[in-house]
Amino acid sequence: MPKPPPCAQCDGKCCRHIALQIDEPEDTDDFNDIRWYLCHRGVQVFVEDGKWYLQMYARCRYLDENFICNNYNKRPNLCRSYKTGNCEATRLDFDYELHFKSDADLDAYLAKKKGSS
Ligand code: SF4
Ligand code: SF4
Repeated sequence: MPKPPPCAQCDGKCCRHIALQIDEPEDTDDFNDIRWYLCHRGVQVFVEDGKWYLQMYARCRYLDENFICNNYNKRPNLCRSYKTGNCEATRLDFDYELHFKSDADLDAYLAKKKGSS
């Protein structure tokens, strides 16, 4: 029996956050700014392929209660270009080099970095 498409079993994880690329932190002030982002609930920072991203959890206003887009014909280009075939959101095996879920994660990373230098 063919496997059902992943979206049929998903609650629309790709429609619940946005991620924006940010500058790679270079000094204490930069890390301090990132620390401020991470003090906020629903904000994470990750590094993928050497690029730093700020991720903010916010459900799209067009994701309906059945986890269907009710703005499908006018959905933004980013939604149109997202590849669902091998969606990593449902596998939860993100291939991040670094992933900070809170300011405590960043503090631990900086302490480790300092200890190894
Ligand atoms: S693309 Fe991925 S995260 Fe989005 S609805 Fe489909 S399975 Fe879920
Ligand atoms: S516009 Fe539709 S496809 Fe795009 S994030 Fe919102 S619910 Fe998802």
